[in-house]
Amino acid sequence: MTTHKTFPKAVIIGAGIGGLSAAIRLAQQKWQVTIIEQLERPGGKMGQVQSDGYRWDIGPSVITMRHVFERLFHEAGRRLEDYLDLVPLNPITRYFWRDGLTLDATADREAMCTQIAQFSPRDVDAYIRFMAYVRRLYEVIGDPFLYRQRPGLRDLLRLPLTDVFKIDALRSMHTAIRAHFHDPHLVQLFDRFATYNGSSPYLAPATLNVIAYVEMALGAWYPRGGVYQLALALERLALELGVEIRYNCAAQRILLNSNRADAVLLHDGHTLPAKAIICNADVTHARKTLFPSSFSDQHQHQTLAPSCSGLALLVKVPATQPQLAHHNIFFGDPADYGREFDDIFHRHLPPNDPTLYVCITSKTDPDHAPIGCENWFVLANMPYLGPNFDWQTQGAAYIEKFKIENLKLKMHHPQFSILNSQFSIFKTMTPQWLQNTYGGNCGAIYGFSSNSRTAAFMRPSNRIRGLHGVYFAGGSAHPGGGVPLVALSGIAAAECAASV
Ligand SMILES: Cc1cc2nc3c(=O)[nH]c(=O)nc-3n(C[C@H](O)[C@H](O)[C@H](O)COP(=O)(O)OP(=O)(O)OC[C@H]3O[C@@H](n4cnc5c(N)ncnc54)[C@H](O)[C@@H]3O)c2cc1C
Repeated sequence: MTTHKTFPKAVIIGAGIGGLSAAIRLAQQKWQVTIIEQLERPGGKMGQVQSDGYRWDIGPSVITMRHVFERLFHEAGRRLEDYLDLVPLNPITRYFWRDGLTLDATADREAMCTQIAQFSPRDVDAYIRFMAYVRRLYEVIGDPFLYRQRPGLRDLLRLPLTDVFKIDALRSMHTAIRAHFHDPHLVQLFDRFATYNGSSPYLAPATLNVIAYVEMALGAWYPRGGVYQLALALERLALELGVEIRYNCAAQRILLNSNRADAVLLHDGHTLPAKAIICNADVTHARKTLFPSSFSDQHQHQTLAPSCSGLALLVKVPATQPQLAHHNIFFGDPADYGREFDDIFHRHLPPNDPTLYVCITSKTDPDHAPIGCENWFVLANMPYLGPNFDWQTQGAAYIEKFKIENLKLKMHHPQFSILNSQFSIFKTMTPQWLQNTYGGNCGAIYGFSSNSRTAAFMRPSNRIRGLHGVYFAGGSAHPGGGVPLVALSGIAAAECAASV
């Protein structure tokens, strides 16, 4: 008589990058995995839309930490390059200032030094010292903070004293950057890395300068065909490993039996029992909507502020702009950069003069726009949703002002002649849209901000103490937002589940 071995069952709520990564890690360990996703596609915030020969990635556009994905595929017995063509970007980003200065940021140290020497010779040494400093940060924090379960303050105390100082958590990112660089343009350039996890350089601990190392030393990539190809590659690998994915299928409740979660109730009334439930939905949103209210009241996590949100425009540009690169940043006055973060994080108002990010994938994939045209994805950081600004009633006026003053005038730099011609805006995505579409926490793009020295220790862990069978994966859980980190979060959640 043959005996059939039964494999443990996992249900994953959400096919975002965190959910897909968790599914891959569990399926590789022979779990029977079902992902339920309320949207009709994988990727969550990583999506793509098309119109009249234009194609845009609508979420993340900068992919760093390639090794995270290489490892995920490798450990599943596959090669990332068989699924995805990751193109290294050079320049990584082209920065523009209103005074006419431009800089092509690159992971090539010599080329960076040459450019810095042209406008601030005394900052060449500063740059070399800064890159050594951020490398040390990466070496110290990578293991305890990124690649493992969330550390507690006690774990910090166990680090060698020299390492505690190397973490540089007592001053702000901005203070550390200013201590290195003289030129305000460079200070602004490195300050901006705080926004990669939705934070302010004036509030986030200097530890977050590690982000500069991740991009400026390890490099940035673009998946040929669009960033969305990464979601499709993860989906393909998950399906090959036997994961079942149900789209247009929403979870209504996580069912608890005493202190154990043991099933997911779907909106259609069906129940999926599971040994492990991995929640890729935003933690705050999940606590409010997926758990019984008695549980949510008991398990309030300490108050962490949401990360910033964003205003994104998908623009059809009927001309090509040779001055622009794949990634472009348009800064306002470096001396007034703090005001943008005051607007976002203190006044909770859309900034008066936001930094603009313009991503043009048709620079690398010409078929993303009709011949002679470009597909611009324009993004500005915005406050998370709150009482000070109502996008339903005040949004239209702000967007109109944004289009005229920011999009047209900021681009109406001596080098840009086209901007008088009629580019057309295909779609506008506001913080309210982000909230409604992905079910987030006040439209936050990256989960929680790191605007405090203790945020890294307060971020929800991948599991809740005292509750068995449910784990959290995604930008609002450890180790935080951004595509590679949410993949690490998914892997960490899967490993918690598999270790029980
Ligand atoms: C405009 C924008 C630009 C960004 N730029 C970058 C960038 O350049 N680089 C970078 O690294 N990161 C960037 N990010 C951040 C990055 O996209 C996110 O950190 C990451 O994609 C989040 O992945 P996740 O797995 O946490 O969750 P999500 O992508 O939010 O996925 C969660 C999934 O859960 C599903 N879900 C929720 N509730 C339920 C339910 N009840 N039932 C079923 N399904 C449910 C949702 O539909 C969603 O698909 C950007 C984000 C945005 C919005």
